[in-house]
Amino acid sequence: MPEELKGKKPDKEGGKAKAEEEVGGRTRLYVCYNCGAGNYVANYWSWFICHACGALNYM
Ligand SMILES: [Zn+2]
Repeated sequence: MPEELKGKKPDKEGGKAKAEEEVGGRTRLYVCYNCGAGNYVANYWSWFICHACGALNYM
């Protein structure tokens, strides 16, 4: 594995999704490809971690 890929998160904005919409937050609803759970994420994210199953999703 190339050295630069070790221990590195995706270089775009993202993070752990939430199960419920944040009041006052700019969020979008995405459905997890793996388990089908609804995930609320920030609208500028490029990836998220499903709150239900932990799968990495790319939008
Ligand atoms: Zn999931």
